Amino acid sequence: MTSHFHRPATLDGAVRLLQERAPSLAIAGGQSVLPDLHRTGPAATHLIAIDQIGALHGIEADDTHLHLGGAETHHLIGHSDLVRATLPALAELALMIGDPQIRHRGTIAGALVAKPQDTDYVAALLALDGHIRTTRRSLNIADLTNVPAKACLLPDELIISISVRRPEAALYQKHAHPAAGYAALGLFCARSPDQTHCLALIAQGRSPCRVDLPAGQPLAEAGPDLVTHAGLTPFEAALLAHFIGHADTAL
Ligand SMILES: Cc1cc2nc3c(=O)[nH]c(=O)nc-3n(C[C@H](O)[C@H](O)[C@H](O)COP(=O)(O)OP(=O)(O)OC[C@H]3O[C@@H](n4cnc5c(N)ncnc54)[C@H](O)[C@@H]3O)c2cc1C
Repeated sequence: MTSHFHRPATLDGAVRLLQERAPSLAIAGGQSVLPDLHRTGPAATHLIAIDQIGALHGIEADDTHLHLGGAETHHLIGHSDLVRATLPALAELALMIGDPQIRHRGTIAGALVAKPQDTDYVAALLALDGHIRTTRRSLNIADLTNVPAKACLLPDELIISISVRRPEAALYQKHAHPAAGYAALGLFCARSPDQTHCLALIAQGRSPCRVDLPAGQPLAEAGPDLVTHAGLTPFEAALLAHFIGHADTAL
Protein backbone atom coordinates (compact mmCIF):
# COMPACT_ATOMS: atom_id res chain seq x y z
CA MET A 1 0.00 0.00 0.00
CA THR A 2 1.44 3.43 -0.94
CA SER A 3 1.55 6.01 1.82
CA HIS A 4 0.78 9.68 1.21
CA PHE A 5 2.28 12.17 3.63
CA HIS A 6 0.39 15.35 4.60
CA ARG A 7 1.56 18.18 6.85
CA PRO A 8 -1.46 20.39 7.66
CA ALA A 9 -0.73 23.77 9.27
CA THR A 10 -3.78 23.85 11.54
CA LEU A 11 -5.75 21.58 13.84
CA ASP A 12 -8.89 21.97 11.71
CA GLY A 13 -6.87 21.04 8.64
CA ALA A 14 -5.57 17.90 10.36
CA VAL A 15 -9.04 16.83 11.49
CA ARG A 16 -10.43 17.43 7.99
CA LEU A 17 -7.70 15.29 6.43
CA LEU A 18 -8.32 12.51 8.99
CA GLN A 19 -12.02 12.59 8.04
CA GLU A 20 -11.63 12.87 4.29
CA ARG A 21 -8.61 10.67 3.52
CA ALA A 22 -9.18 7.06 4.45
CA PRO A 23 -7.52 5.05 5.79
CA SER A 24 -5.51 7.74 7.56
CA LEU A 25 -3.44 8.02 10.74
CA ALA A 26 -2.02 10.96 12.70
CA ILE A 27 1.74 10.86 13.23
CA ALA A 28 3.51 13.09 15.78
CA GLY A 29 7.08 12.00 16.63
CA GLY A 30 6.68 8.67 14.82
CA GLN A 31 8.43 6.68 17.58
CA SER A 32 5.59 4.16 17.78
CA VAL A 33 4.08 4.57 14.30
CA LEU A 34 7.34 4.09 12.38
CA PRO A 35 8.41 0.80 14.07
CA ASP A 36 4.85 -0.47 13.43
CA LEU A 37 5.20 0.54 9.76
CA HIS A 38 8.43 -1.44 9.49
CA ARG A 39 7.01 -4.46 11.33
CA THR A 40 3.57 -4.85 9.81
CA GLY A 41 3.50 -2.46 6.83
CA PRO A 42 1.40 0.69 6.55
CA ALA A 43 -1.77 0.66 8.66
CA ALA A 44 -2.99 3.71 6.73
CA THR A 45 -2.63 5.08 3.20
CA HIS A 46 -2.47 8.68 4.46
CA LEU A 47 -0.12 9.76 7.23
CA ILE A 48 -1.12 13.13 8.70
CA ALA A 49 1.85 14.83 10.43
CA ILE A 50 0.65 16.88 13.40
CA ASP A 51 3.92 17.67 15.16
CA GLN A 52 4.17 21.25 13.84
CA ILE A 53 0.61 22.35 14.60
CA GLY A 54 0.83 25.29 17.01
CA ALA A 55 -2.40 24.45 18.86
CA LEU A 56 -0.83 21.17 20.04
CA HIS A 57 2.15 22.93 21.62
CA GLY A 58 2.66 25.04 24.73
CA ILE A 59 3.27 24.55 28.44
CA GLU A 60 1.33 26.72 30.88
CA ALA A 61 0.64 26.77 34.60
CA ASP A 62 -2.03 28.46 36.69
CA ASP A 63 -2.43 28.40 40.47
CA THR A 64 -3.78 24.87 40.56
CA HIS A 65 -2.87 23.08 37.32
CA LEU A 66 -0.12 22.49 34.77
CA HIS A 67 -1.21 22.24 31.12
CA LEU A 68 0.90 20.51 28.45
CA GLY A 69 0.33 20.59 24.69
CA GLY A 70 -0.21 17.09 23.29
CA ALA A 71 2.69 17.43 20.83
CA GLU A 72 5.25 18.47 23.45
CA THR A 73 8.17 16.04 23.44
CA HIS A 74 9.50 14.25 26.50
CA HIS A 75 12.74 16.23 26.10
CA LEU A 76 10.98 19.60 26.15
CA ILE A 77 8.79 18.62 29.10
CA GLY A 78 11.87 17.39 30.97
CA HIS A 79 13.83 20.58 30.33
CA SER A 80 11.00 23.12 30.57
CA ASP A 81 11.79 25.75 33.22
CA LEU A 82 8.07 25.99 34.00
CA VAL A 83 7.65 22.24 34.54
CA ARG A 84 10.83 22.09 36.60
CA ALA A 85 9.57 24.97 38.76
CA THR A 86 5.96 23.84 39.22
CA LEU A 87 6.11 20.04 39.04
CA PRO A 88 9.74 18.85 39.03
CA ALA A 89 8.70 15.21 39.48
CA LEU A 90 7.02 15.32 36.07
CA ALA A 91 10.16 16.76 34.46
CA GLU A 92 12.21 13.94 36.02
CA LEU A 93 9.65 11.39 34.81
CA ALA A 94 9.90 12.69 31.23
CA LEU A 95 13.69 12.41 31.32
CA MET A 96 13.46 8.76 32.45
CA ILE A 97 11.62 7.78 29.24
CA GLY A 98 13.38 5.57 26.67
CA ASP A 99 16.59 6.89 25.11
CA PRO A 100 17.62 10.30 23.70
CA GLN A 101 15.97 9.66 20.31
CA ILE A 102 12.65 8.66 21.90
CA ARG A 103 12.81 11.70 24.19
CA HIS A 104 13.62 14.17 21.40
CA ARG A 105 10.96 12.91 18.99
CA GLY A 106 8.31 11.16 21.13
CA THR A 107 5.39 13.21 22.44
CA ILE A 108 3.22 12.96 25.53
CA ALA A 109 0.00 12.42 23.54
CA GLY A 110 1.71 9.83 21.33
CA ALA A 111 2.85 7.94 24.44
CA LEU A 112 -0.66 8.00 25.92
CA VAL A 113 -2.23 6.72 22.70
CA ALA A 114 0.42 4.15 21.80
CA LYS A 115 0.62 2.37 25.18
CA PRO A 116 -1.68 4.03 27.72
CA GLN A 117 -1.23 1.34 30.37
CA ASP A 118 2.57 1.27 30.13
CA THR A 119 3.68 4.85 29.67
CA ASP A 120 5.27 6.49 32.71
CA TYR A 121 2.93 9.47 32.26
CA VAL A 122 -0.04 7.35 33.29
CA ALA A 123 1.32 7.13 36.86
CA ALA A 124 1.52 10.95 37.06
CA LEU A 125 -1.88 11.47 35.45
CA LEU A 126 -3.51 8.95 37.75
CA ALA A 127 -1.98 10.50 40.88
CA LEU A 128 -2.68 14.08 39.78
CA ASP A 129 -6.26 13.67 38.45
CA GLY A 130 -5.10 14.20 34.87
CA HIS A 131 -7.51 15.43 32.22
CA ILE A 132 -7.08 15.02 28.51
CA ARG A 133 -8.65 17.59 26.20
CA THR A 134 -9.34 16.31 22.71
CA THR A 135 -10.82 17.88 19.61
CA ARG A 136 -14.17 16.43 20.74
CA ARG A 137 -14.30 16.20 24.57
CA SER A 138 -12.54 15.97 27.91
CA LEU A 139 -11.35 12.54 29.09
CA ASN A 140 -10.04 11.15 32.37
CA ILE A 141 -6.94 8.98 32.32
CA ALA A 142 -9.17 6.00 33.24
CA ASP A 143 -11.05 6.48 29.94
CA LEU A 144 -7.79 5.74 28.11
CA THR A 145 -6.47 2.96 30.32
CA ASN A 146 -9.71 0.97 30.65
CA VAL A 147 -9.76 0.25 26.91
CA PRO A 148 -6.96 0.47 24.35
CA ALA A 149 -6.59 4.22 23.66
CA LYS A 150 -6.95 3.69 19.93
CA ALA A 151 -10.40 2.21 20.66
CA CYS A 152 -11.31 5.08 23.00
CA LEU A 153 -10.40 7.86 20.56
CA LEU A 154 -12.41 8.27 17.38
CA PRO A 155 -10.41 8.04 14.12
CA ASP A 156 -10.51 11.83 13.61
CA GLU A 157 -10.03 12.73 17.30
CA LEU A 158 -6.79 14.38 18.39
CA ILE A 159 -5.43 15.04 21.88
CA ILE A 160 -4.91 18.79 22.19
CA SER A 161 -3.59 19.04 25.75
CA ILE A 162 -3.10 17.26 29.05
CA SER A 163 -3.71 18.95 32.42
CA VAL A 164 -2.63 17.79 35.85
CA ARG A 165 -3.22 19.11 39.35
CA ARG A 166 -0.20 20.80 40.97
CA PRO A 167 0.72 18.99 44.20
CA GLU A 168 2.67 20.53 47.05
CA ALA A 169 5.41 17.92 46.53
CA ALA A 170 5.82 14.81 44.39
CA LEU A 171 8.28 12.08 43.46
CA TYR A 172 8.42 9.52 40.63
CA GLN A 173 10.49 6.34 40.98
CA LYS A 174 10.93 3.77 38.25
CA HIS A 175 12.50 0.35 37.80
CA ALA A 176 13.07 0.30 34.05
CA HIS A 177 12.88 -2.84 31.94
CA PRO A 178 16.53 -3.44 30.93
CA ALA A 179 15.78 -3.84 27.22
CA ALA A 180 12.95 -1.45 26.31
CA GLY A 181 13.26 1.16 29.06
CA TYR A 182 9.54 1.05 29.88
CA ALA A 183 8.67 0.92 33.58
CA ALA A 184 8.64 -2.64 34.91
CA LEU A 185 7.44 -0.86 38.06
CA GLY A 186 6.77 2.86 38.49
CA LEU A 187 5.45 4.72 41.52
CA PHE A 188 4.28 8.34 41.51
CA CYS A 189 3.69 9.79 45.01
CA ALA A 190 2.12 13.20 45.50
CA ARG A 191 1.38 15.26 48.60
CA SER A 192 -1.50 17.75 48.33
CA PRO A 193 -1.63 21.10 50.14
CA ASP A 194 -4.07 19.52 52.68
CA GLN A 195 -1.27 16.98 53.48
CA THR A 196 -3.16 14.00 52.02
CA HIS A 197 -1.06 11.67 49.87
CA CYS A 198 -1.83 9.86 46.68
CA LEU A 199 0.23 6.93 45.34
CA ALA A 200 -0.22 5.70 41.75
CA LEU A 201 1.46 2.52 40.60
CA ILE A 202 2.18 1.15 37.14
CA ALA A 203 3.43 -2.41 36.68
CA GLN A 204 4.07 -3.91 33.26
CA GLY A 205 1.16 -6.06 32.07
CA ARG A 206 -1.10 -4.98 34.95
CA SER A 207 -3.72 -2.23 35.22
CA PRO A 208 -2.48 0.99 36.83
CA CYS A 209 -3.88 1.64 40.31
CA ARG A 210 -4.04 4.43 42.89
CA VAL A 211 -4.37 4.61 46.67
CA ASP A 212 -5.25 7.79 48.62
CA LEU A 213 -4.10 8.31 52.20
CA PRO A 214 -5.54 10.79 54.72
CA ALA A 215 -3.23 13.40 56.27
CA GLY A 216 -0.88 11.94 58.87
CA GLN A 217 -1.14 8.33 57.68
CA PRO A 218 2.28 6.75 56.90
CA LEU A 219 2.84 6.03 53.21
CA ALA A 220 3.72 2.40 54.05
CA GLU A 221 0.03 1.79 54.76
CA ALA A 222 -0.70 2.10 51.03
CA GLY A 223 1.65 -0.83 50.29
CA PRO A 224 -0.66 -3.83 50.87
CA ASP A 225 -3.50 -2.30 48.81
CA LEU A 226 -1.16 -1.50 45.90
CA VAL A 227 0.33 -5.02 46.02
CA THR A 228 -3.15 -6.57 45.93
CA HIS A 229 -4.63 -4.23 43.27
CA ALA A 230 -1.67 -4.69 40.93
CA GLY A 231 -1.12 -8.39 41.72
CA LEU A 232 2.60 -7.85 42.39
CA THR A 233 5.12 -10.69 42.69
CA PRO A 234 7.16 -10.89 45.93
CA PHE A 235 10.13 -9.25 44.14
CA GLU A 236 7.93 -6.41 42.87
CA ALA A 237 6.36 -6.02 46.34
CA ALA A 238 9.84 -5.68 47.87
CA LEU A 239 10.79 -3.08 45.27
CA LEU A 240 7.57 -1.20 45.94
CA ALA A 241 8.32 -1.19 49.68
CA HIS A 242 11.74 0.30 48.88
CA PHE A 243 10.13 3.01 46.68
CA ILE A 244 7.58 3.84 49.39
CA GLY A 245 10.29 4.05 52.06
CA HIS A 246 12.25 6.49 49.92
CA ALA A 247 9.12 8.57 49.18
CA ASP A 248 8.32 8.71 52.89
CA THR A 249 11.71 10.30 53.53
CA ALA A 250 11.67 12.59 50.48
CA LEU A 251 8.11 13.90 50.83
C1 LIG B 1 12.58 1.67 22.43
C2 LIG B 1 11.44 2.44 23.07
C3 LIG B 1 11.50 2.71 24.43
C4 LIG B 1 10.46 3.40 25.04
N1 LIG B 1 10.52 3.64 26.38
C5 LIG B 1 9.50 4.28 26.98
C6 LIG B 1 9.53 4.55 28.38
O1 LIG B 1 10.48 4.26 29.08
N2 LIG B 1 8.46 5.18 28.92
C7 LIG B 1 7.38 5.58 28.18
O2 LIG B 1 6.46 6.16 28.74
N3 LIG B 1 7.33 5.36 26.86
C8 LIG B 1 8.36 4.72 26.25
N4 LIG B 1 8.33 4.51 24.90
C9 LIG B 1 7.15 4.96 24.14
C10 LIG B 1 7.39 6.36 23.61
O3 LIG B 1 7.22 7.27 24.66
C11 LIG B 1 6.36 6.55 22.50
O4 LIG B 1 6.73 5.70 21.42
C12 LIG B 1 6.31 7.95 21.99
O5 LIG B 1 6.09 8.89 23.02
C13 LIG B 1 5.16 8.07 21.03
O6 LIG B 1 5.01 9.42 20.71
P1 LIG B 1 5.11 9.87 19.19
O7 LIG B 1 4.86 11.32 19.16
O8 LIG B 1 6.36 9.38 18.57
O9 LIG B 1 3.84 9.08 18.62
P2 LIG B 1 3.61 8.50 17.16
O10 LIG B 1 4.45 7.29 16.95
O11 LIG B 1 3.70 9.57 16.14
O12 LIG B 1 2.08 8.08 17.33
C14 LIG B 1 1.71 7.02 18.21
C15 LIG B 1 0.18 6.88 18.22
O13 LIG B 1 -0.38 8.04 18.82
C16 LIG B 1 -1.28 8.69 17.93
N5 LIG B 1 -1.13 10.13 18.21
C17 LIG B 1 0.03 10.84 18.29
N6 LIG B 1 -0.24 12.10 18.68
C18 LIG B 1 -1.57 12.18 18.87
C19 LIG B 1 -2.48 13.21 19.29
N7 LIG B 1 -2.07 14.45 19.61
N8 LIG B 1 -3.80 12.93 19.37
C20 LIG B 1 -4.27 11.68 19.09
N9 LIG B 1 -3.47 10.67 18.68
C21 LIG B 1 -2.15 10.91 18.58
C22 LIG B 1 -0.86 8.26 16.53
O14 LIG B 1 -1.92 8.33 15.62
C23 LIG B 1 -0.42 6.82 16.80
O15 LIG B 1 -1.56 5.98 16.86
C24 LIG B 1 9.34 3.83 24.27
C25 LIG B 1 9.31 3.56 22.89
C26 LIG B 1 10.34 2.87 22.30
C27 LIG B 1 10.27 2.62 20.81
